[in-house]
Amino acid sequence: MKKKTVAMLLTVLLLAVGGCTEDVRGPADGTEFAVHFIDVGQADAALVVCDGEVMLIDGGNREDSQLIYSYLKQENIAHLDYIVATHAHEDHIGGLPGALNYATVDTALCSVDEYDSGVFKTFVDQLAKQGKEITVTGAGDTFRLGSADVQVLGPVWASDDPNNMSVVLRIEYGETSFLFTGDAEREEEEDILDAGFDLESTVLKVGHHGSENSTTYPFLREVMPEYAVISVGEGNSYGHPTPEALGRLRDAGVTVLRTDERGTIICTSDGQTVSFAAQRDEEEDPLGTKMEYVLNTSSKKFHLPTCGGVKDIKEKNRAAVFETRSELVSRGYAPCGNCKP
Ligand SMILES: [Zn+2]
Ligand SMILES: [Zn+2]
Repeated sequence: MKKKTVAMLLTVLLLAVGGCTEDVRGPADGTEFAVHFIDVGQADAALVVCDGEVMLIDGGNREDSQLIYSYLKQENIAHLDYIVATHAHEDHIGGLPGALNYATVDTALCSVDEYDSGVFKTFVDQLAKQGKEITVTGAGDTFRLGSADVQVLGPVWASDDPNNMSVVLRIEYGETSFLFTGDAEREEEEDILDAGFDLESTVLKVGHHGSENSTTYPFLREVMPEYAVISVGEGNSYGHPTPEALGRLRDAGVTVLRTDERGTIICTSDGQTVSFAAQRDEEEDPLGTKMEYVLNTSSKKFHLPTCGGVKDIKEKNRAAVFETRSELVSRGYAPCGNCKP
């Protein structure tokens, strides 16, 4: 428990002094292991970098393609050793073509190589442009990313529910470990528990954006994470993360970080302890300051006045307001994914 307290203190400090993503060390300046939980709103995207090797786990929605492209460019990552499409849903694979437009890929993993959707087809087509196909993966597979060991824990059994076909990965780097669960819910969590894998992890990427049916107590008891990251969109219509999932994490004494509150979250590991830095500090509360925003009263999105998307809003749906961010969110408005107001 002592180690945990120290690590938590470190986190608080880092987050307190914490700067923007620019201040965070990327692969170029010697960090040996880092996970970038990229803020893609109500979706998942995580970039794992270890000793110069790179794995992208999911790529957000279709509309995040440009963001993923820009992120890789900013990080100077023109080659991906692995792309993992955890499952076929749009909020996980929609933005992967953006990655494939910028970077070459060695291996693309998914639990299925066929799925009836336009988004899936686009992903497969983009891979084909590089002469690649999906490699189907499942429980029991292992590979290495730099000096980190990656173990595939799920899916154990086939399921009719794409969420429960999520590729679940556990990455071990030194004494620290990271569990990525895609949108796995109770069914897949039970399968993984039954399979008897070692689940204990320092950091858990919470399943299905904090849905009620994920992160069950039996699963959490085995994972015993110190930290949990929830990739979730502010004001999303699913009510994620749910009070049930948050309650279970709280009961387990887990420190929770959410992309809807912090923006992009970067976790680094030295093999002993992990530390976090986030795009938005907890302290500098931008939520309480009144600012000028432009609303799209039809799509219920809000933008900065400078956002390029503003000019495309139909006049009848456009409204300029001077309000606090939290007021807008409480009225059901969601921030634009491009200007990130
Ligand atoms: Zn999802
Ligand atoms: Zn899903």
